[in-house]
Amino acid sequence: MARVYNFSAGPSMLPECVLKKAAEEMLDYKGSGQSVMEMSHRSKVYEEIIFGAEETIREVMNVPENYHILFLQGGASAQFAMIPLNLMGTKKKADFINTGMWSKKAISEAKRYGTVNVVATSEDKNFNYIPDIDKITFDPDAAYVHITTNNTIFGTRYVKLPQTGNVPLIADMSSNILSEPYDISKFGLIYAGAQKNIGPAGVVLVIIRKDLVGNAYDYTPTMFNYKTYANEHSMYNTPPTYNIYIAKLVFEWIKELGGVSEIHKMNVEKADLLYNYLDSSNLFKATISKEYRSLMNIPFVTGDENLDGDFVKQATAKGLVNLKGHRSVGGMRASIYNAMPLEGVKTLVEFMKKFETEHSR
Ligand SMILES: *Cc1c(COP(=O)(O)O)cnc(C)c1O
Repeated sequence: MARVYNFSAGPSMLPECVLKKAAEEMLDYKGSGQSVMEMSHRSKVYEEIIFGAEETIREVMNVPENYHILFLQGGASAQFAMIPLNLMGTKKKADFINTGMWSKKAISEAKRYGTVNVVATSEDKNFNYIPDIDKITFDPDAAYVHITTNNTIFGTRYVKLPQTGNVPLIADMSSNILSEPYDISKFGLIYAGAQKNIGPAGVVLVIIRKDLVGNAYDYTPTMFNYKTYANEHSMYNTPPTYNIYIAKLVFEWIKELGGVSEIHKMNVEKADLLYNYLDSSNLFKATISKEYRSLMNIPFVTGDENLDGDFVKQATAKGLVNLKGHRSVGGMRASIYNAMPLEGVKTLVEFMKKFETEHSR
């Protein structure tokens, strides 16, 4: 069996050992005589899985006791509505920093529920940078400030967090959660769709400060109220049971590797390898300048669309797949999330070097 190196922005690669473990446990999970997919979410054996997932993520992300860890559905995109519904409250306004397509979607959804103030944006340069957060004036009376810590499509990331005082900072971490250490106490709420760094699509992780739960608008659907999940350990109704099981295996994998700080070192090594080559290449170039570069999503171009197309095609034939860039940037994008092995990035860089030699101008 030949597994490919999958550079997709999401769903993306999972650690091979996690897939193997899931395969081993597929038909008979720990002597239960059934697959995790088949078991009651109210059973003891399943409770151990979901509580174990929660405990392990709390440990690896160092989540303080005054935060709930919730497993929800609807993708990160459902959070674009759930956050204003639950947190805008009587203030009915929030500050947003617009750093890309996902920020924009969060903004347009929040506008349905209150006033959105876009306090800074990088749209003037097609989102190829992060606005200088020290120059932003936040509204001290806003219900919250929303940022996207890593911009999956454009390949930028915040290297510093905005200081928002008493106003809770909310972060869409879908594409960089667990990739670098964060001080959770700096945030009111963090959310992430699973399909990049957590597990299979279909589960969303929400980490929310406990005092922020319970202020939803009256008309908020039960299934869109954080309180519903906080009160019931994410099991008000049937949760995405198998997805949470895989997420647990991924969290355990991170723990075994030495935690998020160790994963971060590996991510820096992988990203450096690719960026260093891009900066030295005469054919390929990175689209983002050094100070804003994402460790997870690395867009690059040759400047010649036909050549980009040839590159993607030839790379695919070599088992380096999903390198085509997003239509709004063009060129290529290598998404190198936690589960992408160093070997995968090495193989990509070797292939790029060879391609460069063959196409030197
Ligand atoms: C992928 C992604 C989303 C969307 O996630 P879904 O789970 O598909 O809704 C939102 N925000 C960011 C930053 C993403 O990378």
